[in-house]
Amino acid sequence: MKYYILFGPPGAGKGTQAALLRDKHNLCHLSTGELLRAEIAAGTALGAKAKELIDNGMLVPDEVVEAMIENKFDTTGGVSGFLLDGFPRTVAQADALKRILARRGQKVDAVLSIMIPDSTIRERIRHRAEIEGRADDASEATISNRIATYHAKTEPLISYYKDAGLYREIDGTGIIDEVNAALSALMQVASSAPLPYAPDALAPIISKETIDFHYGKHLKTYVDNLNNLVKGTAFENMSLEEVVCKGEGGIRNNAGQVLNHNLYFTQFCPASDYSAPDGKLLEAISGTFGSYDGFVEKFSAAAASLFGSGWAWLSADADGRLVITQEANAANPVQKGLKPLLTIDVWEHAYYIDYRNARPAYIKALMQIINWKEISRRYEA
Ligand code: AMP
Repeated sequence: MKYYILFGPPGAGKGTQAALLRDKHNLCHLSTGELLRAEIAAGTALGAKAKELIDNGMLVPDEVVEAMIENKFDTTGGVSGFLLDGFPRTVAQADALKRILARRGQKVDAVLSIMIPDSTIRERIRHRAEIEGRADDASEATISNRIATYHAKTEPLISYYKDAGLYREIDGTGIIDEVNAALSALMQVASSAPLPYAPDALAPIISKETIDFHYGKHLKTYVDNLNNLVKGTAFENMSLEEVVCKGEGGIRNNAGQVLNHNLYFTQFCPASDYSAPDGKLLEAISGTFGSYDGFVEKFSAAAASLFGSGWAWLSADADGRLVITQEANAANPVQKGLKPLLTIDVWEHAYYIDYRNARPAYIKALMQIINWKEISRRYEA
């Protein structure tokens, strides 16, 4: 089951896009605004309370919308997933969603964000008022309040979901078909995770040329291969991790390489931003390997001695214990039930431009650009 959040300011076109994406991907379009408007139309007590708030451009209390969402999850069947529109709208709602999904053994797959400037928001809402006649689209004061509420309460979700590695943004100012094509591309099984640094920011440890080839060409090929291979198969609606665990042959290999590379490219920071591991992760490292230096020695030896192409991994087991493994070719620790935390790609394409055949020099240098905050986030997630 897939869980997508369709994100964006009021008037971004979430409703229009959701209707198109719902049919294309067999999803349930779950709009809290629509659910509330249905309550208002039915004249329920909840509707009466919600109307007052909605007409003033304010938010309905978190527990009301959270209960509506959970009820829909419980009562909807026959779909490949959910497309949440207008929820979550606050950080508290995002935390609640995480808990609601965790209870079901599920998680958010991606946040698809349609971005438009404030001036376009106003134009779009005025236009919609003429077509749909929504009460909260009619008054300029209500529109202003909704825009202000969006900036104050909903916009913080951008960094919330960026930190969780789930945020994907597209430009929403184009025509409907263009925006839809961009969103559909984000919903494919495979995509390259956006780089959290500039392509030249890791130089000289990883040069821009290596990023251009390794991220721009090698990873892109795996992404394109996988999306082509899964078309029309049951894998199309699985998460990447599921494809890695359940797929075979080319599907498993390409999926493994997408997952491996996405974890690899999002684990670095410029050397000038480096800070050593700390907190719970450091405790686990010291507990398992004696010290940080002890860990580096074992991890580097695993990467250096791996024969042929593959990946050295630091992972956590279900009890949070750390383990170092060598994975050949496209394998990933998720196939062993482990949570992958940190990796060294020892395929020659990862280091040949910058280090030629000197794999140990590449391994040593890499340890100076590890973003330990990101590794801690993965460990504690
Ligand atoms: P929408 O159709 O998403 O623009 O929502 C219309 C109005 O319904 C909003 O301006 C809010 O007053 C209310 N609403 C919709 N979704 C939520 C939510 N997740 N949390 C609180 N209020 C909401």
